[in-house]
Amino acid sequence: MQQKGTLMVVSGPAGVGKGTVVKRACELSEGKIHLSISATTRAPRPIDCEGVTYYFKTKDEFREMIANNQVLEWAEYVGNYYGTPRKPVEDALSRGLDVILEIEVQGAMQIKKNFPDAVLTFIAPPSYEELEKRLRGRGTETEEQILSRLETAKGELALMGEYDYIIVNDEIEQASRDIITVLRADKLTKHFYFKNEQ
Ligand code: 5GP
Repeated sequence: MQQKGTLMVVSGPAGVGKGTVVKRACELSEGKIHLSISATTRAPRPIDCEGVTYYFKTKDEFREMIANNQVLEWAEYVGNYYGTPRKPVEDALSRGLDVILEIEVQGAMQIKKNFPDAVLTFIAPPSYEELEKRLRGRGTETEEQILSRLETAKGELALMGEYDYIIVNDEIEQASRDIITVLRADKLTKHFYFKNEQ
């Protein structure tokens, strides 16, 4: 029988570099990780690409996805909706791929509640000052958006204790390898063994 993959949540405050770390972890896994593509109502940024970074939706379209049970989790974050389309995740897990959901903390808590086998990993900055520096250095947001994201970050950092693993992103390559290590560690847990036993 095909072993089911691991469902892994990766969260962390805006600017911590989790996107880069997750992308690198996918490369290191050589095709064994499926990175979930979220739906969102936020406006695309110049680097965004429909169906690659996100599926861009209107608020009405998004509400319809929720009503039709088409999202595994969803949250409102800095004035916009974000959610994980259900089917691609379920299909990839059944095919034995590990699935990473790069999502914020409210969504992560829904996954923790509804999928007790999911592994929750938090990417933490080396310090709050470093986070502010990285967020400003990104140059993609207005000052108002930066302040709003920093405020949100404080609440997110307060929820770190709800996660199974914490990876401090001091160095991208090491943090990416740590993601692979966490996925491997999950394969050695008793819950993974019993989940795949029948
Ligand atoms: P951004 O607008 O910077 O792309 O993302 C803002 C936040 O939304 C990030 O913390 C990101 O991880 C989170 N996010 C992205 N997709 C989802 C999703 O499908 N569900 C939830 N709950 N959060 C998401």
